[in-house]
Amino acid sequence: ERAQLALLRDAPAVTLDGIAIKLEANIELPEEAQAAMLAGADGIGLFRSEFLFMGRRDLPTEQEQYQAYASVVKTMAGRPVTIRTLDLGADKNLDGDVTVASNPALGLRAIRYCLANPEIFATQLRALLRASLHGHVRILIPMISHMHEVHATRQAIDAACTELEARGVPYARNISLGAMVEIPAIAIAIEPFVESLDFLSIGTNDLIQYTLAIDRGDSDVADLYDPMHPAVLRLISHTINAGERAGKPVAVCGEMAGDARVTRMLLGLGLTEFSMHPAQLLDVKKEVRQAHSNALRVKVASALNRAERIDLASLSA
Ligand code: PEP
Ligand code: MG
Repeated sequence: ERAQLALLRDAPAVTLDGIAIKLEANIELPEEAQAAMLAGADGIGLFRSEFLFMGRRDLPTEQEQYQAYASVVKTMAGRPVTIRTLDLGADKNLDGDVTVASNPALGLRAIRYCLANPEIFATQLRALLRASLHGHVRILIPMISHMHEVHATRQAIDAACTELEARGVPYARNISLGAMVEIPAIAIAIEPFVESLDFLSIGTNDLIQYTLAIDRGDSDVADLYDPMHPAVLRLISHTINAGERAGKPVAVCGEMAGDARVTRMLLGLGLTEFSMHPAQLLDVKKEVRQAHSNALRVKVASALNRAERIDLASLSA
């Protein structure tokens, strides 16, 4: 069994009809990059940077963040490292933060929090720009719902560059910028986002929560938290298609991407980039290597057109 897994680790993630699939890793702490490499990940698809800020009373400095990001970038040896800017609020909070939003999931979280706290945001952006000197960093913005948030983020990145230049600190230019698609509004009105950003990553955990009005952490309604709801799948499909048309990469980095039971379904939606916990990577790769992508696309498209539930059993070989 072990030898077989090792073989699988070095085998390419290509479907039976020759479509190359990128399999990347989600990490929460820099040390986990090693596990991503051991699993044969093509890169880091999601580094949840807020974990550097949690469980402590002070904020990490620019230098401390730079070292954490640079260590991941170095471990990944040239593979892309997608670092999500602070996604605080709702289910993830700073220690000692006593402000309670009336509805945290709909409140000042993630990019909204960062734009409202420009010093915290600027510090993180400078650390990211500096770390990108050591390899391929991509900045990923969580919880985007408006184009003006994209513009404000670009301005904040430009200001961070100007400050580093003034300080004479080296950094890499033209860093790529992408957004999480996890609020239904942007999946529905995706065109300006896909045009102005370099890449998109679908956060199905929140996308499902906001589409179905189900709190992702509330066990009383957990049975209604349904990744296979046709509305959710249409939003994913719409986003992937828009990326395909614009020639921009689209990944899924929510839990669905690491669930081997839905790998065929996601391939059928046209997904070519999956990011997941490193421990799930080989099971997903196994599915990819046994799937016929084009046949799946035909089956999934016809069910989606009728907004029918997709029968997963009908997608297996
Ligand atoms: C998501 O929402 O799907 C996601 C990947 O981000 P998080 O689970 O950290 O909110
Ligand atoms: Mg999310």
